[in-house]
Amino acid sequence: MALKYRSIRGTRDILPGQSEKWRYVERVALETAATYGIRQIRIPTIEKTELFTRSVGETTDVVQKEMYTFEKGRESITLRPEGTAGTVRAVLENSMLADTLPLKLSYIVSCFRHDNPQAGRYREFTQFGIECFGNSLPTADAEVIGVAYDILSRLGLSDVSLEINSIGCPKCRPSYNQALKAYYENRTDKLCKTCLERLERNPLRLLDCKEEGCQALAAQAPKSTDYLCEECDDHFEGLKKRLDAMGFVYRVNPFIVRGLDYYTKTVFEFISDKIGAQATVCGGGRYDGLVEELGGPHTPALGFGMGLDRILLVMENSGCQFPAPPICDLYIGSMGEEENIKALTLATHLRREGFTVLCDTVGRSVKAQMRYADKQSSAHSCIIGSNELGQGKATVKRMADGNQTEVALTAEAMSQYLYAEKAEEIAEA
Ligand SMILES: [Zn+2]
Ligand SMILES: [Zn+2]
Repeated sequence: MALKYRSIRGTRDILPGQSEKWRYVERVALETAATYGIRQIRIPTIEKTELFTRSVGETTDVVQKEMYTFEKGRESITLRPEGTAGTVRAVLENSMLADTLPLKLSYIVSCFRHDNPQAGRYREFTQFGIECFGNSLPTADAEVIGVAYDILSRLGLSDVSLEINSIGCPKCRPSYNQALKAYYENRTDKLCKTCLERLERNPLRLLDCKEEGCQALAAQAPKSTDYLCEECDDHFEGLKKRLDAMGFVYRVNPFIVRGLDYYTKTVFEFISDKIGAQATVCGGGRYDGLVEELGGPHTPALGFGMGLDRILLVMENSGCQFPAPPICDLYIGSMGEEENIKALTLATHLRREGFTVLCDTVGRSVKAQMRYADKQSSAHSCIIGSNELGQGKATVKRMADGNQTEVALTAEAMSQYLYAEKAEEIAEA
């Protein structure tokens, strides 16, 4: 039978088996952020298009080619391509900057970009991110990088490398842009077509072009760190000092510029070589001008976005451990209607105690029920027939070794038995 509908290119389904891994990674990310006093915000998937053109930047690939934009009524609406703009909008709309600063937020959002799908890269993808508002000191940069560092370590991704750079501020950026232009203007014959267009409006973009010819040129290009004003230089030195003190291993890479326009001073990436070519699994930095750009008061801010699709892929390719999938604590088989009702009521009570319990709901034969219990890898099983119902007890079998125990057919006795089994399991482990 031919499939009538397929998922849209660049999107995919996360199935059981995979979804538990996702939940694990999301939990580790949120809980790690919480150890830094960062709390979760949930924002809408759609925003006014202008929010993204203003913040992400008119000249970026994201805005020029990749956004999912549609008209509804008289409004132009866009599916968010990243999480920062919406978070800043929400912070301003809900007057959150009026509270004690710094304000620190985390989020897990699906984002949408119409670019070329490849390994670990989808048109609908999931980002974990944090944003921190109201702190201009390098301590904040060190903390934000620390959150990402801790999450990756907790997930077991020890060989992901941290690269940092400073791309200056509105005071020193113009002189750096000028130096870049001067450098590239004598070499335009070696630039790709896109970079030729970028040269006038946004020369910084040329540094992270993936074309071979452009990369060769970028390697010899002027470095932003040589053009920093005193304030930016002090800030960058302060950050490095703190990262050293925190024991974080990093490398200064003068060619990290990030793909979005709003960054100032610190930019950083965590890079993995576990999914083919070098891939960024987390990127972020400082964006001191963005809140103001979006209509708020001048507020220094910074954050990062972590691509969870890629993180999962890197974890799998690195042989990282995931928690074991949930198991069924008890399968209660039954023969006959009264027995089935007994199984159902027992299961209901035990689930309320937090156990995972299955019983027959489709009228299988006892033999088929046992096969099913086996397939669900139940830790224990029992069968309620007329004898068991009459005597008010059943034989519960521990599936791992066949050990059998008589247990009364009451929720109390059953849960006592299952608790004891769990305690034994933990003691053994
Ligand atoms: Zn500066
Ligand atoms: Zn190029």
